Amino acid sequence: MPQDPERGLSQQEVLDRRARFGWNELPDAAQAGPVAVFLRQLSSFLILILVVAAGVALVLGEWIDALAIGLVVLLNAILGFVQEWRAETALAALKSMMAPKALVIRDGVEQQIEARELVPGDLIALTTGDKVPADALPTHAVGLRVDESVLTGESLPVDKTVDGEARVFSGTAIVSGHAEAQVTAIGRETEFGQIAQLTGSVGEKTTHLQRHLGRLATQLGIAALLVAASVAGLGIFLGRDLVEMLMTGLSLSVAMVPEGLPAVVTITLALGAAAMVRQQALARRLQAVETLGAASVICTDKTGTLTENKMTATRVWTPSRSFDVTGAGYDPAGHIAADGRRIRAEDDPSLARVLRAGLFCSHARLIRRGQDWVMSGAPTEGALVTLAYKGWHPPAPETGPLAEVPFNSERKRMSMLFATDQGALIVTKGAPEQVLELCSHLQNGEEPQPLDEAKAAEIRAAYESMAADGMRVIALAERHPDTVEITEHDMVFLGLVGLIDPPRAEVRAAVASAQSAGIRVIMITGDGAITARAIAKSVGLPEARTITGAELEEIDDPTLEDILRGDVIFARTRPADKMRIVAALQADRQIVAMTGDGVNDAPALKQADIGVAMGIRGTEVARDSADLVLLDDNFATIVGAIGEGRRQFANIRKFVRYLLSSNAGEVVALVVNIAIGGPLVFLATQILWMNLVTDGVTAVALGLERSEPDQMNDPPRKKDDPILGIGGVAMIFCFGLYTGTACLWIFFGTMDQGVDLARTTAFTAMVIFEKVSVFAFRSLRLPCWRIGWLSNPLLLAALAATVLAQVAAVYWPPLQVLLHTVPIGLDQWTQIALLALPLLILPELIKSVLWIKRRV
Ligand code: ATP
Repeated sequence: MPQDPERGLSQQEVLDRRARFGWNELPDAAQAGPVAVFLRQLSSFLILILVVAAGVALVLGEWIDALAIGLVVLLNAILGFVQEWRAETALAALKSMMAPKALVIRDGVEQQIEARELVPGDLIALTTGDKVPADALPTHAVGLRVDESVLTGESLPVDKTVDGEARVFSGTAIVSGHAEAQVTAIGRETEFGQIAQLTGSVGEKTTHLQRHLGRLATQLGIAALLVAASVAGLGIFLGRDLVEMLMTGLSLSVAMVPEGLPAVVTITLALGAAAMVRQQALARRLQAVETLGAASVICTDKTGTLTENKMTATRVWTPSRSFDVTGAGYDPAGHIAADGRRIRAEDDPSLARVLRAGLFCSHARLIRRGQDWVMSGAPTEGALVTLAYKGWHPPAPETGPLAEVPFNSERKRMSMLFATDQGALIVTKGAPEQVLELCSHLQNGEEPQPLDEAKAAEIRAAYESMAADGMRVIALAERHPDTVEITEHDMVFLGLVGLIDPPRAEVRAAVASAQSAGIRVIMITGDGAITARAIAKSVGLPEARTITGAELEEIDDPTLEDILRGDVIFARTRPADKMRIVAALQADRQIVAMTGDGVNDAPALKQADIGVAMGIRGTEVARDSADLVLLDDNFATIVGAIGEGRRQFANIRKFVRYLLSSNAGEVVALVVNIAIGGPLVFLATQILWMNLVTDGVTAVALGLERSEPDQMNDPPRKKDDPILGIGGVAMIFCFGLYTGTACLWIFFGTMDQGVDLARTTAFTAMVIFEKVSVFAFRSLRLPCWRIGWLSNPLLLAALAATVLAQVAAVYWPPLQVLLHTVPIGLDQWTQIALLALPLLILPELIKSVLWIKRRV
């Protein structure tokens, strides 16, 4: 154990202990290695079909076909591997951003480190909302209560005292109070390590959409096998070559199955999550990316999310007079004035008491860094400390507090006990409603006077007038108790301090954007009703009914659901209220995003469709329960993330339709051709090639489409909106019918110059058609001239690469051998181009007309 218990371990001791005890971590669940990811590519049903096909080809002596199929399998696996590996590493990067942190004291300096760096003997600081990073023995604790349900299943929090016995355990949550503790066990050696594995990693669950598309792929797979079997059967029945028909059947089934679909979805969501991080939103589960796009209500905190959480005291009210305060932020260079005259604390004993109470009843510290002042602690407290320095340079309390009843959102106040020259002193600060209830007297001049109803009304009026200006109002009170313990009654009311906390600059626009996207914003704050309304107004939220936590208690669930259909603000709420509000909204089929930061917010965050935790202000416990973490705590980031979620969903819709319509074209050509008895229009290997060329690369590029300009003007999609829908099926049908028929047209038109040339031309035509049609799928509503022809450079690159590959397939001898192609001439290219043109022009025309119509 360390020599000096106050200073913690030295750097050298840490290194020694690390060498002996290792890292504070449990063996990672399963982060698949590259080999595993590669092997996964080879273990699908599709590959099985292909291997069978290659085997059949070999048995029949068609070794070139067997080789071609083998190469396709390999290429497919490599492509799949590259894509999936990208997704895995993107997710791993996100996961490392979520690594739990710990506050440790080493060499006498408090510092934040990753929890895995802890060693036995480390001195750690724990506070409300922390997840305990290792097993530890408290050496100092104030009001420490711990939720040990992860270990014991017992949901009631347990009190922990410093008795040399009661340990706190890794993985449990600090529900209230704070403590210093010495680490006794890390990693596997902890109680938690002994019984459980770490939980909560990204992508552990498949998303709704992934399951949905997985099902679609299976259904299509079965349909494909049926179609392939019938086509082959039909062919054999019509007297076609048995081998040729078997190969065609196999390839047809491969061509029909959009086997890349689930993988492309995962990749799109993973890349989407990475894009969100760049916009300061960290998705803890892929599910969040997807659900965000459907969000219909955002329930948001006020302080720090809509506002900056940079508090400055600008007004002080005492029963004798009120004061204005100059200066901004935590720089104590400002002053307190009354009637235009600067006032110091020594000129006004009532003011002096207010300043002292604010300074004493606080954990905040101001630290000078060069020219700047920085504050460590809660902004509300930092503002009160700054205020005290502006009016007075009073002695800080000589000794630390003797006792404390800490602040929590339930009580909305806190008290501390000090020893002073005049004996024991309790100072209390908190929400005016709460503090006023504890007071029997008020300080007016030197002596406390009884607090009668008229005085109380005066205080309330002063509070309301500050709140109406959007200020957060803190009331201060004190009492000299007879015993040395905190008794919160018969206190002396000292005064009120009004703090401003400016709305974040970007919030107004974000609120407007949410509104035009049909997403309602509901403010749920612990602050008072009048302040809440003033801030709501200043960020552009609609005039709304205000309901306080106390009123909410009187309202039954059906009435609450009713109220929630209109505009409403919730004020003076307790964390438990959030849970009720989410449940009521969900009963009304809303998709709810709910913000939270405290340990008590965890249940509501879990219940919400999208739990949103604060990255800076939030507690570890809240972050752990959330789906999305705002790295900048900013409301505007939620709206941005919703936009990103909508983009992802829209893009998935686009490439699903695109992939299926490409497949449809191939199937139409093959089936119709066999029915009319022509020679095979595509060979097995050619189908595989098309599948490879069209699938994957182009679809992934389509998944990278930017968001469409009017994306945030639509109402949120329903949660169970189909990916395809009637519109999608119609689109697939139209494209399939056209490309399939056009291919056959070219095929039979070229037949007089030999079947090999005809087949190569049809094959090339199909590839080009599929490439050209992609423009129609870039937006399902807007013509390309609206979204910009060049706005997705990756798609253009993918197109260029695939067209080049096709040119190689036709003119490069090795590929000619593999794919049974012959060189085609300008004539054929011209035909292909002419027939491809409508695929480009018609959709553009239709969408332009529809767009103009919408405009008019
Ligand atoms: P939001 O829920 O929007 O974040 P909030 O930060 O005001 O709002 P709480 O933190 O629950 O919500 O605070 C509720 C009330 O408790 C505040 O309005 C204030 O009056 C009082 N309060 C806040 N912080 C302190 C503190 N450190 N000490 C004493 N009272 C406080």
